[in-house]
Order: sequence, then C-alpha cells, then structure tokens
Amino acid sequence: MDKVTGELKTDCVPYSQFKEHVGEVVNIKGVIHNIRDMSDFAFVLIRTARDVIQCVYSPEFSDYRMTDDVVEQASAKVSGKVVPSKTRDGSERYELQITGIDILSRPADIVPVVINKKQINAELSVNLDNRPVTLRNPKERAIFKIQEGIQRGFREYLTSQDFTEVHTPKINFAGAEGGTNVFRLDYFGKTVFLAQSPQLYKQTLIPVFERVFEIGPVFRAEHHDTSRHLNEYISMDFEMGFIDSFYDIMEMETGVLKYIMNLLREKYASEVALLGADIPEIDSIPCIRFKDAKEMCVRKLKNITDMHDFEPEEEAYLGKWAKQQYGSDFLFVTHFLTSKRPFYTMEDPEDPEVTLSFDLLFRGIEITSGGQRIHDYNEQVEKMKRLGMNPEEFDTYLMLHKYGAPPHGGLGLGLERLTMHLLGFKNVRSAAMFPRDINRVTP
Ligand code: ATP
Ligand code: MG
Repeated sequence: MDKVTGELKTDCVPYSQFKEHVGEVVNIKGVIHNIRDMSDFAFVLIRTARDVIQCVYSPEFSDYRMTDDVVEQASAKVSGKVVPSKTRDGSERYELQITGIDILSRPADIVPVVINKKQINAELSVNLDNRPVTLRNPKERAIFKIQEGIQRGFREYLTSQDFTEVHTPKINFAGAEGGTNVFRLDYFGKTVFLAQSPQLYKQTLIPVFERVFEIGPVFRAEHHDTSRHLNEYISMDFEMGFIDSFYDIMEMETGVLKYIMNLLREKYASEVALLGADIPEIDSIPCIRFKDAKEMCVRKLKNITDMHDFEPEEEAYLGKWAKQQYGSDFLFVTHFLTSKRPFYTMEDPEDPEVTLSFDLLFRGIEITSGGQRIHDYNEQVEKMKRLGMNPEEFDTYLMLHKYGAPPHGGLGLGLERLTMHLLGFKNVRSAAMFPRDINRVTP
C-alpha cells in the first residue's frame, strides 16, 4: 500500500445490516464472549462494539471444524450464513450459522471475574478492581454508552445554540473557589492546584465567544467517603453572556436536558432497554425558592439543624415533593443564601442576603449548581475584600471585569451524578469508568 485515501474498507457486515443479508454468508469481527457447548452443536456469542451476536456451530453447516484455540476472550473473524431467529421474549433477531472462525488473538489467561452472564455478580469493589475486564460485560458497557449519549446531547444541543466548545487548564496557580477540597501539587518547586471547576476561565471567555461550554475532568479533594462524591469527575459546564436574568440559564439547561433525554430514547434504545433505565419525560421544570423549600423541610422533617444549606435527606424529600406535586423528576431550587455561594455569585439587588443562583435536583439529589455572576469590576473587588480575599491574587481573573464583561452566568452539571440517578444506582462509583475516591487510584 503506497497511498492512503482516508476510506477505510472492511469485508465485515455490522449487525444492524444483517436484515439485508439473510441467506448470505457474511464476516464479522469481535471477541468470543461465551461458548456454550451442546455436544452436537455449540453457541458461540461474539461481542462486537455494541452488540452480542449469536453464532451457531454445527458440523452440518460446513466443512469447518472448531479447534482448541476457539476460547472465550479470543479475538476472531467469524464467517457464517445469516438466518432469522427469535429471542426468548419472542422478538426478532438474526444469528450466524458458522462456516469458519479465524482466531486473530488469544488471551494468555482466563478472566478473574465472570463477565459473560447478564450482569457482573461480584461486589462493587471487586468489579472496580477488575475494571479493564468487567467493563467488557455488555451491561457495564451500556452504562458508559449512555454516558456518551449524555455528553453527545449536551454538546449537540449547545453547539446548535451557538456555544463554542473550549478546554481550560487543569493545572492552576490559584484555586478557583479555594476551600479545603483543592488538590495541591508540586510544580517545579511551586505549589499549584488542580482545577476544581473551569469557572474562572469560562467567565474569562464570555467577552470572547459570548457562549462557551466545556466537558472535562475536575478535581475535588473530598475528605469523606460518600456514595455521591468522587475525587475526579466529569463536569459539563456552560457559561452564557447577555442574559436578562439567571432564569435564562435555567431555560437553557431545561432545553439541554430535554434534548439529551430524547437522544437517549432515540439513539440509545438498546442500552436503555438493557439497563431498564427510566428516562424522564420533561415538559417544564418547577422552581421553588430556597427559603420556601427550607421552611417546608423544617415542617415535614425532624432534626433539621443547618438552616443555610440542605442535608441529603432534605434533597430527597424535595425530590419526592416535586414528583407528587408536579409529576416532575426535576426541581430547580433558587435564591440560595449569599453566605453559601462562591465569591463570584451575584446577589439579589432586592435582597442581598440571597443570590441569583440555583441548584437543580434530579430524583432528590443535586446534579447542578449555577447562577448569575458579578460582572462589574468594583462590585467584584469589593466583595472579595469583604470576604477577606486578596484581589491581587486574582489579577488575571479580574481582567474580565476590569476591561468590560456583559451580564452573564452559567452552570456545572456532574456527569456521573446525572448518570447515577438516571440508571437508579446507589453509588456514584457505578457510574464512573475508572473512579477515583479517597481509597482508590487504580486501575
Ligand atoms: P455537593 O453539595 O453535592 O457536594 P457541590 O455543591 O459541592 O456538591 P458544585 O461545586 O456545585 O458541587 O458542583 C456542581 C456539580 O458537580 C454538582 O451539582 C454535582 O453534580 C457535581 N459534583 C460536585 N462535586 C462532586 C463530586 N465530588 N463527585 C461527583 N460529582 C460532583
Ligand atoms: Mg452545588
């Protein structure tokens, strides 16, 4: 081959096209997922990028005879005749009557965890310890196909709304929001921080692009071992300029979520079915002020002591309330207390005790925080001083305000949190491909 043209040729047929090849001999490539020997014939299941294809071996089908190197987890090229068949529940499918198997690569050992049953039956920690192997289970794989769909929906929708996709640095000289949960690291003798969020950079890009989004990792040194916190997670962030109020951001998020859910229903139907995922219908999302939500929680729940923020049980209660009252899986809570929101959050001019901010709860857990940001230079410098911060440490961030920024705001949406609640998992680690937590940095 002394020239390449950019057209990748293949002599294989994807499963989605089997329908058009009934009665013909076709080739497929994949990994041998399961071999079930039935003495005079055998089922050989081939795992391809998105499907598991049932192939049947029998000496009646051709002169080909199965050899000892046809083992589970070997990579193979299989040829066979396409025939229609039925699944156990009676739906239509296609299988191959094997006429040849070419082994392309052999495993050196047998897998440490059973991966060819319906699901991984080992404990979560064992599943996570063996991620390179357990992810091959079609149900585990489907989780991350769904996650791909969520990111794709976020990207497609925002791109259609004239957002520019950006990538901001993850190694930073100053921590975005400070606090105790920043990771410090040695950078040629200097202390630097891993980004907790793209916040300050995405704001900086508002006078450049007007609307930006980023899908990327963020780092939080969470000191507690909880079922909803990771130390590295994927944040889906956007920031938009020229907003009339922070409700514009909530409208945009509602549009994004509608688009994502429709995309999952349409383009990820097989994964949705495999996981039994309950994809929410979104028409509109109800809103409640923090103060009103808090009063309701205090009335309905016992032992609420923190009047400034929600405990997980309050979020859970509010989730149920939104479902009963509005039939909604989502609830926006707005106007969080100024004392609880970061320094860049705009205060409500009618009541500076509260901010023009919101959280989005999904099935009773926070998945998003967002709000309008301060755009006026003096106002931002004043607020930093009031909070005991040194504006000089933020000189490059403050160039945004100093040299003019339109009214703007945005949000951050945790990908694993959203996936977790979409799929009904109890632990966010189940929705992380290679989770990082207080006790885990491998695999
Ligand atoms: P929480 O109160 O639940 O700890 P937060 O308010 O500290 O979250 P934000 O800074 O508002 O988190 O982050 C925005 C979103 O990122 C959250 O709504 C959530 O979806 C996600 N998120 C935050 N921290 C984590 C984490 N440690 N692991 C996974 N997702 C997270
Ligand atoms: Mg938050």
